[in-house]
Amino acid sequence: MPESPDTIERDAERTDSDSVDRREFLRDLLGACSAAAPVLWWGTVSVPAAAAQGATAGYDPTEHRYGMGIDVRKCIGCARCVVACKTENDVPEEPHFFNTWIERYVIRRDHEVDVDSPNGGIDGFPPIAEPATVRRTFFVPKLCNHCDNPPCVQVCPVGATFITKDGVVLVDEGYCIGCRYCVQACPYGARYIHPEKHVAGKCTFCYHRLVDGLVPACVEVCPTGARIFGEVEERATPLARFMQFNDVQVLKGHLNTKPKAYYANLDGEVR
Ligand code: SF4
Ligand code: SF4
Repeated sequence: MPESPDTIERDAERTDSDSVDRREFLRDLLGACSAAAPVLWWGTVSVPAAAAQGATAGYDPTEHRYGMGIDVRKCIGCARCVVACKTENDVPEEPHFFNTWIERYVIRRDHEVDVDSPNGGIDGFPPIAEPATVRRTFFVPKLCNHCDNPPCVQVCPVGATFITKDGVVLVDEGYCIGCRYCVQACPYGARYIHPEKHVAGKCTFCYHRLVDGLVPACVEVCPTGARIFGEVEERATPLARFMQFNDVQVLKGHLNTKPKAYYANLDGEVR
């Protein structure tokens, strides 16, 4: 298993060219290993902390444990969150690259389910066909669930993806070799390979904002308060109240990934 990033010292001397050379070497090596045998190569590569982790003076990650609540009943599908996320996190503009996106579920009376997400919701949603047959329709914001038992972390052969002490799943771009194992392992479709950086991309809960005491950009811009961000374990926080007063569910709970995106007023048809 890769060493825990919590116990590993950051390599402060690492340069960008070192990083690129190293990544190329590891990618080649991994390719060779994959071709030679159907096993993962579990190297003992040191993992630097995330660029922002604990960087802000006075921020102590051990004092926090973050999650997000999503009230499906409040989401109007405006996708302001998707646009804000792309801007805040330099997510590629092209469709198919999203840290967060909006899916529209149309549940028919005969239990057929239609799901669409035009450009992650940014392009708006077309009129629903055959509206008389619809039992319920609603919008579901999706993102990385920052799982406590994340398969993406388990499969990463170089320890580039890891969980911070405050419960956020991050990717260290300096160590990611773009092998796609995490993309395939994530059961929520929450990862992609950045087309220019050639490293894994995903929601970071806007970690660079968290360490400055701010909420993620998607939460800040949501006009209806559909997204509630905060401490999972503390009492009397907005997220704690949300979880207390709603019958919250996680997505694909049977997979035991222990997600920390909590949904209220979800329909059982949502996957
Ligand atoms: Fe990893 Fe996917 Fe879970 Fe996010 S949702 S922590 S990318 S497995
Ligand atoms: Fe839904 Fe809020 Fe995102 Fe709009 S900004 S799509 S209401 S979560």
